[in-house]
Amino acid sequence: MKYSQYFIPTIKDSPADAELTSHKLMVRAGMIRKLAAGIYNILPFGLKAIRKVENIVRDELNKAGAVEVFLPSIQPSSLWEETGRWLQYDLELLRVKDRHDREFCYGPTHEEVITDLVRNDIKSYKQLPVNLYQIQTKFRDEIRPRFGIMRAREFTMKDAYSFDATDAGANISFEKMVQAYDNIFQRCGLQFRGVDADSGAIGGDFSREYMVLAESGENEVAYCNSCDYAANVEKAKVLYKENIESTVPEEQLEEVHTPGYKSIEEVANFLKVTPADCVKCLIYETEEEMIALLIRGDRQVNEIKLKNFLGVETIALASDELIYKTLQLTTGYLGPVGMKISVYADNELQENRTFVTGANKDEFHLKNVDLSRDAQIKGYGDFRNIEANDPCPSCGKHGINFCRGIEVGHVFKLGTKYSEKMNATFLDQNGKSQHFIMGCYGIGIGRTVAAAIEQNNDDKGIIWPKEIAPFHVHLVSLFNKDSDLMEASEKLYNELIEAGVEVLWDDRNESVGKKFKDADLLGLPLQIVFGKPFQEEKQVEITERKTLTKEKFPLNKAVEIITKKLS
Ligand code: ATP
Ligand code: MG
Repeated sequence: MKYSQYFIPTIKDSPADAELTSHKLMVRAGMIRKLAAGIYNILPFGLKAIRKVENIVRDELNKAGAVEVFLPSIQPSSLWEETGRWLQYDLELLRVKDRHDREFCYGPTHEEVITDLVRNDIKSYKQLPVNLYQIQTKFRDEIRPRFGIMRAREFTMKDAYSFDATDAGANISFEKMVQAYDNIFQRCGLQFRGVDADSGAIGGDFSREYMVLAESGENEVAYCNSCDYAANVEKAKVLYKENIESTVPEEQLEEVHTPGYKSIEEVANFLKVTPADCVKCLIYETEEEMIALLIRGDRQVNEIKLKNFLGVETIALASDELIYKTLQLTTGYLGPVGMKISVYADNELQENRTFVTGANKDEFHLKNVDLSRDAQIKGYGDFRNIEANDPCPSCGKHGINFCRGIEVGHVFKLGTKYSEKMNATFLDQNGKSQHFIMGCYGIGIGRTVAAAIEQNNDDKGIIWPKEIAPFHVHLVSLFNKDSDLMEASEKLYNELIEAGVEVLWDDRNESVGKKFKDADLLGLPLQIVFGKPFQEEKQVEITERKTLTKEKFPLNKAVEIITKKLS
């Protein structure tokens, strides 16, 4: 491709709204342009990288036996009503009406549509298993679109859906996808890790996320030093050891005046105890009721675990105003003793000991609270985040570490969640009607490209992993006025194309400085420069973008050396 006839509008400065390196670089390298919040134009250089990832994804999925389809992005509400998700999905679902006032949504995911397709056209176990995938535009009205196409509202996803007749078959389909995902992300040149994950709004019994390891990632991953356990912190289970030995000391409840001491730290300091001796009492609102949650003062609540435990769709901390209005209580002095709403407590609080809690009375706390004696706990559960000194939930040894990751893929075992709700059945060997056993598998295509850039860059620009680089070689002709040099450049350009190398030829009438800067910014694996060494001794300079090492070679050896370096 000749740069002069292409469209890569590079810019010097990063956009003001860009926080992440990958977002800045994608805008500066002329890959994307914002149209509206979370909605982007994809420009040719960006599209090339996206197509490369799509092709790797296609190749690996086809090899794994999946078959490509293309489903509509606009979906009728009736299907979503069958699964109950029309009501469950709140503002993230973009709803539209047609001229007849019929309701539709822009698909954020396609479980309903695919299940409908399969229930109508697959009738017998003989037609199973089947795994259908598409690479398609999704729309999710994200509350906080950011990071360019990494968290967009409109984005391209590969989504695959497997249908099996038996659990064993469904497990095989799942494992095939896991293998395909490993191959895909490896080929994309990413450092990644598969981790146990929460299934979120998609649901199902089991899911795994693929995390590209990066400091800037939105997800926190906990992993074990002794075994191969790794999980999103949202999911990582805290092992609870029952403490049967000790007995609670028989101490009287004691009300203490704590004027103005509201936070755990303030109260602990004032009463000369540690935060671990205090219990935080938090009030949450769900779509069903208000509940109180107790957790040790030094711990962090895991709202996803709480939400799953309660089996609710939404959960959020109640505001001080609402708490006062409903319970006539002031935050800072809340506690379980005499609490009028259901109280749930973290497993850890089952230990036989007493705690400091709020007294449900302004400016007072209680000492020596024995939860089993003084409060009514509706349920104990695992409601906190795993921490470094917790044992590994898999092997039980100590040594949990943390890293950050960007979720690029997510695979789910759905079981019969959708097929039951949508009455999607086939006839088994005995002629008996059975629900399909499903799996679903997503990859964010644009997010994968962005994550690759987030992991591969330096202060000059992008450093493309070879397999997803928009081109392999950036051919730079420094002096447009030198016709010998331009002719020789064009000859090499054609020879490289002939040899199957993808070349971007900077034939623009631009300054030497601008051409070098753009070459580093665009970050193609090899740069070939026609400059002074060509004029003086018919040599070209080859720079490896990753290491920035430069070597000179006679022009007549260039094709051979370049193809060797790229292989
Ligand atoms: P997240 O937790 O990041 O919001 P999710 O769990 O909602 O993602 P899935 O429903 O598992 O996402 O979607 C499958 C894949 O689609 C994700 O692994 C991710 O790569 C991609 N994806 C999801 N949301 C977005 C988005 N807003 N922008 C770009 N890619 C996305
Ligand atoms: Mg996910």
